Amino acid sequence: MLTLADLHPLTAYLTQIAHLQSASSVLSWDQETYMPRGGSGARAEVLATVQGLAHERFTAPEMEELLWRWIDVDNGTILDPEADAPARAVLREVLRDYRRAKRLPTPFVSHLERTCALAHEAWLGAREKRDYALFLPHLTAIVTLKREEAAYLGYSETAYDALVDAFEPGMTASRLTPLFAELKTALSALLARIMDSPVRPAPLPAGPYDAQRQLAFGSLLLSAMGYRFDHGRLDQSAHPFTTGFHPTDVRVTTRVSAEDVTSSLFSCLHEGGHGLYDQGLDPAYYGTPLGEAVSLGMHESQSRLWENCVGRSIELWRHFYPLLRQAFPGPLARVSLEEFHAAINTVKPSLIRVEADELTYNFHIIVRYELEQQLIAGQLSPADLPQAWNEAMHGTLGVTPRDDGEGVLQDIHWAHGAFGYFPTYTLGNLYAAQFWQQAQRDLADLPTLIEGGRLDPLVSWLRDRIHRWGRTHSSDALLRRITGEPLNPEHFMTYLEGKFGAIYRLA
Ligand SMILES: [Zn+2]
Repeated sequence: MLTLADLHPLTAYLTQIAHLQSASSVLSWDQETYMPRGGSGARAEVLATVQGLAHERFTAPEMEELLWRWIDVDNGTILDPEADAPARAVLREVLRDYRRAKRLPTPFVSHLERTCALAHEAWLGAREKRDYALFLPHLTAIVTLKREEAAYLGYSETAYDALVDAFEPGMTASRLTPLFAELKTALSALLARIMDSPVRPAPLPAGPYDAQRQLAFGSLLLSAMGYRFDHGRLDQSAHPFTTGFHPTDVRVTTRVSAEDVTSSLFSCLHEGGHGLYDQGLDPAYYGTPLGEAVSLGMHESQSRLWENCVGRSIELWRHFYPLLRQAFPGPLARVSLEEFHAAINTVKPSLIRVEADELTYNFHIIVRYELEQQLIAGQLSPADLPQAWNEAMHGTLGVTPRDDGEGVLQDIHWAHGAFGYFPTYTLGNLYAAQFWQQAQRDLADLPTLIEGGRLDPLVSWLRDRIHRWGRTHSSDALLRRITGEPLNPEHFMTYLEGKFGAIYRLA
C-alpha cells in the first residue's frame, strides 16, 4: 500500500519550492508593513525573480518525472489502487496544481508579476489623488493579461471560471450567478425590513482611542482566541492581512484608528480567524497540499466566523466589554453593553466594502463579481469601469460615490491581478454560517462557554474538523462531512434574521 512516506522524493522536492514561496511571502509581508515606499521598484524585481524560480522548479522536468512514478501519465489516475488517503490526496492535489502551472509559460508568469507589482504602486498613488486615470493603463494591461491567462489555463464555459478556480477550486460562474441572485433577493428583503424599523442604534463615541491600548486589546483578543504569539505577531498595515510562512510563523496585521475602536477590534478578530487556520495546519505536511488551506472561501469562513458569528455576539462582549471599557474609560463610560452590541451590529448601506456591515457587505461583493465578469468577458472596457461601478452601487445600495477614491479605487485586488477573488468573501460568509450552526449543535454549551471567555472548545472544534486536514477534502466535501449537507445559503439568512430580528425588533 502506497503511503505518504513513500512519496518522500516528491514531498522533499515540493518542500524546496515551499521554501521559495515562504521567502516570497516574507518579502510581501515586509512590503506591506515596514518597507520604505521608495523600495517598491526593486522589491517588484526581487519578487518576480523568486516567484519565477518557484514556478520554474514546479514545472521542471524533474517534477514531471516524480509525478509519473505514481500517476498514470495518460489519464491522471493513481497507479496504486491501494494507496492510502493522505497519499491519494497529495497526488490528486499536486497534479491539479501542476496542470494549472504547466499551462502558464514562465515568461508570462514573470511578466504578470511585474505588471501587478507596478500596478500596485500606481494604485496607491491613484487612490491617494482619487484619480482613476493614473490607474487605468495598469488595469487595462492586467485585464488583457488575465484574459490571456484564462486562455492558457483553459475552461469549458467562461474565461472567468479559469480565474475563480485559482481561489475556489471547482467554483464556476454558472454556480455563483444563481447563488448570488438568490442571496441578493433574500438580503434585499431583510434590508428593507431593517430600514423600516424604528430602531436606530447610536454610533459609538468618536474616541479618542489610544493606539497602543488598541494594539494591546487586539493582542488580548488574539490570545483568548488561541492565536499563538510564539508562532506569530501583530503589526500595523494600511489593509489588514494574514500571511503564513509556516504553521510556526503566521503573522497578522491590523489598522488602528483614533476615532473608531471597532476598526482594529474586528480586524484582529478577522485576521485572528485566518491566523488560527494557518497555525492549525499540520507542520508535518508543510510543503504538501495537506499543509495548505482548502480554498480562499474556506479561509474566509474562518475569519468571518470569528469576526461576525463570535465577534459580534452579545455572549463574547458579556465577557470582554467590561475589559474594553476599562481600557477606554473616557469614550465608553456612558455606553452600556447592549448599546455597544447594537452599535457593532448597525446595518446601513455605505460606500466602502471593508467598513460595511455583515449584511450589506454581500452587495459590495455581488457588484464586484458582476463587474469583473464583464471585464474578463470583454463586455466592459476598463475605461468605462468607474461609471459602471457608480451605477451598480446606486442600483443595489442606493449610494453613489463622490469620487473614485470611495468608489472603484478602494480595493487592492484588481491591482494585484486577483480577478475571481471577490466571490470568496461571500462564500466565506455562507460557509461560516453553516459551520457556526453545526458548532452550536455539537457544542451544546457554546454560548455559556463564550460568555465565560472560554473560546478554546470552539478552537478545538475548528482545528479538528477543518484546520488540520489541509487540502485533504474539497470545500464541497468538507461542508458535507461537517454539516451533512452541501452549501446552503439558508443558514446565513437564518443567522442574520435571528440576530437582526432581535436588535431591530423585526416582526
Ligand atoms: Zn479575510
